[in-house]
Amino acid sequence: MTVLAPALVAALLTAAPSSPQVRILNRRVERNQVLATALRSAGLDAGQTDRVVAALQGVFDFRKSRVGDQLRLVFRGGELDHFDYRQSPVDEWQVRRDGERYVARKREVEVETQVSRVELEVASSLYDAAVTAKEDPTIALALADVFAWDIDFYVDVRKGDRVRCLVEKVLSKGRLLRYGEVLAAEYRGESVGTKRVFRWQPPDGEWSYFQEDGTSARKAFLKSPLKFAHVTSRFGMRFHPVLEYLKAHQGVDYGAAIGTPVWSVADGTVTLAGNTGAGGNSVCVRHRNGFETCYLHLSSYGAGVRTGARVAQKQVIGYSGNTGRTTGPHLHFAMKRNGAFVNPLNQKFPRNEPVPASLLARFRETVAPIAASLDAPSLATVTRPGG
Ligand SMILES: [Zn+2]
Repeated sequence: MTVLAPALVAALLTAAPSSPQVRILNRRVERNQVLATALRSAGLDAGQTDRVVAALQGVFDFRKSRVGDQLRLVFRGGELDHFDYRQSPVDEWQVRRDGERYVARKREVEVETQVSRVELEVASSLYDAAVTAKEDPTIALALADVFAWDIDFYVDVRKGDRVRCLVEKVLSKGRLLRYGEVLAAEYRGESVGTKRVFRWQPPDGEWSYFQEDGTSARKAFLKSPLKFAHVTSRFGMRFHPVLEYLKAHQGVDYGAAIGTPVWSVADGTVTLAGNTGAGGNSVCVRHRNGFETCYLHLSSYGAGVRTGARVAQKQVIGYSGNTGRTTGPHLHFAMKRNGAFVNPLNQKFPRNEPVPASLLARFRETVAPIAASLDAPSLATVTRPGG
């Protein structure tokens, strides 16, 4: 004999055909699912799935479907009544029933871009400083990106260091959706001194960052082989870089939580991507002017990183790990010049092209008011529509 639980009995009673039963299902796209399979696993039959997918054709780019995207299905009387597909607060598609067919459209979300002045003071890390200032922690990643040629945010940051920046905030109904471009930023650090950078686009040129005197903020080589990221160590290990150049050891060890992204410090060509025994999973990249860099003990490789592949500066070529002969998770970073090991910490790399002399006056004119806003917190922020 079958005994029905009281809750189930209640559910069966409310499912009486007299009132069209409304049922709401919230799901996420799982690994190895495409939208159609996600819809099927949420209970849509093949016919309904086909009609929903057909409605989205030309409205939604199915290649952009990602694991974790949210699906909300509302059934009325067993039939799908409406379906929402949500990727982010600004990216949502709605499918509505219109007689026998379904109609899809992208939901219009009003966003505005506001330039804000953000100020951080470091107590422990740049990431924690952002949290303390009630900013989204991704601001730390954006700032680390802007200063990547001059500051190693794992190594050079000291308690009491101050950062301020003018950054675009993309808002919807007053709520931060994401940060836009960093227009200007200043880092005052005990170890690195003061660095100020400004985003500027020369006529017919590309946006780039320059210092106030018109010299480039960029160099051929980055300061750190570790991309700044918030990584929670599986072993609860705190970051402790060992920054001595180990002569017998021919390189620099960075104590790094497993999974910390490792990026190529310069443009180049991969000369090695594989296990080297004691070095564990290793990647070496050949750069211009006789330089080569190697990254050892990786846990995994970046997408597309194989011998012969071209890699760009800031491209993630792997993730730090504990493979090969090690006494703990770390990145071993080595640099060669014309075949001989050199200490990467001692290398001075020239900056990229400065603002051309003929444009310097124009550059100064553009940057002066931005510098003033960076220095003076009282100046009003600028709001403009669009994002
Ligand atoms: Zn080492």
